[in-house]
Amino acid sequence: AIELQGLEKWYGAFQALKNVDLTVQSGEKIVICGPSGSGKSTLIRCINQLEEIQGGTIRVDGKALTNDPKSVRAVRREIGMVFQQFNLFPHMTILENCILGPIKVAGVPRAEAEEIAHEYLKRVRIPEQANKYPAQLSGGQQQRVAIARALCMRPKVMLFDEPTSALDPEMVNEVLDTMIDLASDGMTMICVTHEMGFARKVADRVIFMDHGEIIEENDPEQFFEAPRHERTRSFLGQIA
Ligand code: ATP
Ligand code: MG
Repeated sequence: AIELQGLEKWYGAFQALKNVDLTVQSGEKIVICGPSGSGKSTLIRCINQLEEIQGGTIRVDGKALTNDPKSVRAVRREIGMVFQQFNLFPHMTILENCILGPIKVAGVPRAEAEEIAHEYLKRVRIPEQANKYPAQLSGGQQQRVAIARALCMRPKVMLFDEPTSALDPEMVNEVLDTMIDLASDGMTMICVTHEMGFARKVADRVIFMDHGEIIEENDPEQFFEAPRHERTRSFLGQIA
């Protein structure tokens, strides 16, 4: 499980997260939504220790995260992350992108890393692209490589930060379908997304953030049909 307790994040004098409490059980799928600047990316980045926190605790499987570089590395290995911009290495082939982490960070032998990479490229339905370079792929394909690359580290949790919002509309579904597959395999997932169809289909809980706080959380049915807070209603009105 991932447990956030009283999380506080400041950028200088600006408070980006205010007393955020959130527990995500193993196998749970959480969708986070909210207006621009509400702190969604900051929250995700704190979980992956890409940001330092100024208050509260983050526990992963009961262990509180610390700044100790060894523990930072250990935690990152268990957490896969997919960004809006795919962040593939442009000068490496798809296969090389996928085996880099397992070889360099996890010490997996090359042959085994390649086997794992081929397995996940098949899972995201682009086994034939392994020897191409990122620029030779469509945006949707690149994002599926980014997902496969994260999975090659065999993470316990996958974090997604608006993985479809940089894509042309016709490519959104192929990425969402990959995420739906992953969800049905039982992966623990925290997804920042405004894709409401995805949220309805996959999320155990939808969380609404505004101004650095969790304003409301509910199962998707209740969340979309009967939002409790005025701010949630007004947000849903805008994106519908
Ligand atoms: P969006 O939907 O636009 O991606 P978000 O909900 O992901 O928004 P964050 O990126 O988490 O929002 O930002 C939350 C707040 O923190 C914003 O007001 C933003 O300007 C501020 N912020 C984010 N990163 C930094 C930074 N590195 N330095 C200073 N302020 C930052
Ligand atoms: Mg963001």
